Amino acid sequence: MSRAFTLSFASFVVKPFGIIRMVKLQRVGALVVAITVWLTLPLRAEIPSPEEHFGFRMGTDRQLASAEGIEQYFELLATQSDRVRLVDVGLTTEGHRTIAAIVSAPENIRNLESIRAANMRLADPRTLGPDEARRLAATQKTVVAIGASIHASEIGATQAANELLYTLASARDPGTLTVLQNVVVIVIPLLNPDGHRLVTDWYNKNKGTPFEGGPMPWLYHKYAGHDINRDAFMMNLAENRNLARFLYTSWHPQVFLTMHQMEENGPRFFVPPNTDPIDLNYDPLIWRSAAFLGDAMAMELQRDGHTGVLSNAKYDYYWPGFEDSAPLGHNTVCLLTEVASVDIASPVTITANELRGGFKGLTDYRPQINFPQPWPGGRWTLRDIVDYDLSAVRGLLTATAAYREQLVQNFYDMGRRAVESGARGGPFAFIIPPEQHDPHTTAKLENLLIDGAIEIHRALEPFRADGEPYPAGTDIIFLAQPYRAYVKTLLERQTYPGHRATASGPADRPYDVAGWTLPKQMGVNVVTVDRSFESPPTSRLSGATIAPAAVWGERKPGYWVIEANGNGGAIAVNRLVAAGAVPAWSAIPIETGGFRYEPGSIVVPYLKTAESTVASIARELGLRVDGVKGKPPQSVRPIGRARVAVYKPWTENIDEGWTRWLLDQYEFPYTSITDTDIRAGNLRGRFDAIILPNSSPDRLVSGYPADAVPAQYAGGMTAAGIDAIKTFVRTGGTLICLSQSSDLAIAAFELPIRDVAREADDRLFVPGSILKLEVDPSKPLAYGMEPHTAAFFAFSSAFDAIPARGSANGHGGDAVPAVGMDTVAHYGSRDVLLSGWLEGEELIAGRAAVVQASVGTGHVVLLGFPVQHRGQSHATFRLLFNAIFTAR
Ligand SMILES: [Zn+2]
Repeated sequence: MSRAFTLSFASFVVKPFGIIRMVKLQRVGALVVAITVWLTLPLRAEIPSPEEHFGFRMGTDRQLASAEGIEQYFELLATQSDRVRLVDVGLTTEGHRTIAAIVSAPENIRNLESIRAANMRLADPRTLGPDEARRLAATQKTVVAIGASIHASEIGATQAANELLYTLASARDPGTLTVLQNVVVIVIPLLNPDGHRLVTDWYNKNKGTPFEGGPMPWLYHKYAGHDINRDAFMMNLAENRNLARFLYTSWHPQVFLTMHQMEENGPRFFVPPNTDPIDLNYDPLIWRSAAFLGDAMAMELQRDGHTGVLSNAKYDYYWPGFEDSAPLGHNTVCLLTEVASVDIASPVTITANELRGGFKGLTDYRPQINFPQPWPGGRWTLRDIVDYDLSAVRGLLTATAAYREQLVQNFYDMGRRAVESGARGGPFAFIIPPEQHDPHTTAKLENLLIDGAIEIHRALEPFRADGEPYPAGTDIIFLAQPYRAYVKTLLERQTYPGHRATASGPADRPYDVAGWTLPKQMGVNVVTVDRSFESPPTSRLSGATIAPAAVWGERKPGYWVIEANGNGGAIAVNRLVAAGAVPAWSAIPIETGGFRYEPGSIVVPYLKTAESTVASIARELGLRVDGVKGKPPQSVRPIGRARVAVYKPWTENIDEGWTRWLLDQYEFPYTSITDTDIRAGNLRGRFDAIILPNSSPDRLVSGYPADAVPAQYAGGMTAAGIDAIKTFVRTGGTLICLSQSSDLAIAAFELPIRDVAREADDRLFVPGSILKLEVDPSKPLAYGMEPHTAAFFAFSSAFDAIPARGSANGHGGDAVPAVGMDTVAHYGSRDVLLSGWLEGEELIAGRAAVVQASVGTGHVVLLGFPVQHRGQSHATFRLLFNAIFTAR
């Protein structure tokens, strides 16, 4: 073997994750024989590199591998390499595949099902004793999952994934072979396949124009955009349900790495450990493991000469809703990397004086222990992103191979400790009694826990716990289960461990939100039982269903009265309307068949063709129905069949996406309208209700500037749009304002209302927390709600009336006098915080949270907080639904 070949080979060994340059080898004429031998080794020669497959090297400036191309490449390697098997994770929201390549040594791939089965046994220590676990760990492979670019515009990792797969499938250096022998690597090249298509389409369409690499005017997921990675425990989106099923019930990796991108002008790369605070529910070993593996990545990056690597900063893992934090509660070591962005695929140049720190863990951009060698500035390209990502992954895989047995054993031990803690109590169980205000939402809560691999048991006989009696049919979540931390963090109250360094210093705010307690957000009664109790006979739930209710009373009645509590009550209305019936709200209680129907129950005149709908409402939604003789009562309020518009700004408004998601889920028809529609006016002719998503008024009015996006997407609704909305309301329309868009309505209609939360500046600090909310369920906007409930509040609004000054406002001319104001809900008057972090309680205690104002012949509804927050805050969905139902 000549020296030249040896050198080439050596460079391959050092850089196994880089593309092998066959060209280089061919230049060495004396090595024809050796190369021939090399090329004819099994499989190697048949596997095309990404460059051969895509026609360009991954990370080439302004070139992107498409979703279809990546799928084809992964399929190709699965057919050509005995190290690779391809599996499907599930279909996306828009029906695309999510693929995963499982890569390991050929003997592991042949043995894959038994490795997988052993892994699932290790995940549940209740069925595996310590001795057997140790024996298993001695030979079991580490399972490491790597997912790319759930945030689709953070696109570099999807490109790197092709080279990663190629190297793992083809490289023959000792380092790679050791990895393959010890690790089962799962590569998910596109965590957001829909978004990848949207982003690449937009990028390619604008390539070569002034808008190349600029913002896309819509979300990179049909509903959630960036929030696709804020849905991991709620699983409202198909992508997150699929991933949870894959991670928790199919493969259960010991390690899960997700690869993201961050801003262009800071550090180049972030690796774990993350920063404070930590969620104390998780086993401390998980933080040590994350730090260890993060450092293995950092070390490899440094060895490769990649500067600007940061750790222990900025990103906390307090909140469990990220795809890479929810698995922490399942004893999976979660790792996040972030690499400095380019403009999608177009390179950027960052000068030294543009580089910034300015966040937790890196106040100034200068060398320090967690950032030993700052990047000096210069040109930064998509290829740099690919190189950094591959270097980090190589460090991770090297470490997981070297510490294979420890990582496997840790996984088992963490599960075992969770079971033991649960058995000791404090808490011992969560109990979900069968009598619930909102059966539809109770089932949703139980299903998201079951989808999160939490075991729920249904009591078959009555029992007592903590001295309280519970009937048969009560659901019990015993905490002696391996994912105790996960269920505990979702169901218990959060007390955010935030602080300020000095009384007037900046708040140590969470990276995401401070409180999420699901029973509060969803309005489900969940009882925490601290002490152990004797379990009644139970059966394990495979899925939660709503206990069917019945249709009582007359079979051919004059009318039906239908219980309409909670969110099922809203679906009932929509199904009745769709069936051609004419439902109305009862404004008074109705007693029939020994049952009292509260105001807000549905009254609907008998209609032969609606019989089956009514029966299915009782059966599927669990809402009691009585058929009653005679004419419907007089005291009813008609329910409008509102023609609903949802305003869709061209500014990637996530709240707009979640609003559409909510309306789709709860069976409301609606039309999306854009700036063009709003500016054109004549809105009243087309719609009865217009919903403005949460956005600052300025953003709604101005949109993106003309130099950021093509002309048809620039400029917002403009003053002309505001005028059109004013006319819409004055002539009988209903304007529904979500959160901050309330401020637009207050200004536009000169409502005599102050938003005291907005005026409070930093005296009020609520970075996403759950607050006490008092509603008056006798008011139509609050029909179907519980009087004492909870609001999710995140830099939201609290309203106070401005005392009347003769006329409703001081402006003349165009002023619109407000003729009636009604507070529908207000924040609690004391002990306002239910979960999370609140500073400045006195500023919002008792203040109005939801206000309805009459303007002309129309209405403005100000929903001062996110009533449909990420599809999580079920307790307050009805405020939006009722605002639609009362519009006409
Ligand atoms: Zn991201």
